[in-house]
Amino acid sequence: MEREQIQSLIRTAVEQLPRAYVPYSRFRVGAALLAKDGKVYTGCNVENAAYTPTNCAERTAFFKAVSEGVREFSAICVVGGPDGVLSSFTPPCGVCRQVMMEFCDPEQFEIILAVSSEDYQVFRLKELIPMGFGPANLAEQEKREVQHAEV
Ligand SMILES: [Zn+2]
Repeated sequence: MEREQIQSLIRTAVEQLPRAYVPYSRFRVGAALLAKDGKVYTGCNVENAAYTPTNCAERTAFFKAVSEGVREFSAICVVGGPDGVLSSFTPPCGVCRQVMMEFCDPEQFEIILAVSSEDYQVFRLKELIPMGFGPANLAEQEKREVQHAEV
């Protein structure tokens, strides 16, 4: 991905920080998810008094896109920090990495973690969730079952 495109995603992710609903943790997270068709879906974290219904910025962006019929993605940028101050990378939680496994090729999908438009690092999904379980694993299972039934 080109530097200008990365920086544009970082800007968009940072723009989501004021929208984060974080009365409990005050830890604001913004995400910008780039679909393969070039459209960008945004997300922020949305907390809840009951805690477990809380949704991360990354999943907010994914679910917005999927609910609009989009299922193919190239990259996501994630930024965050206490009170929206970016001082270190905010990597996606395990649940969000698993959601990425559902819709993204772990060899190709890029995750951009940024502190600013100059200070960022790009990871592949497979680096952040090694040996991740995804739809391909179930497809393998089905193939084995078919072979077994044929014997
Ligand atoms: Zn998460």
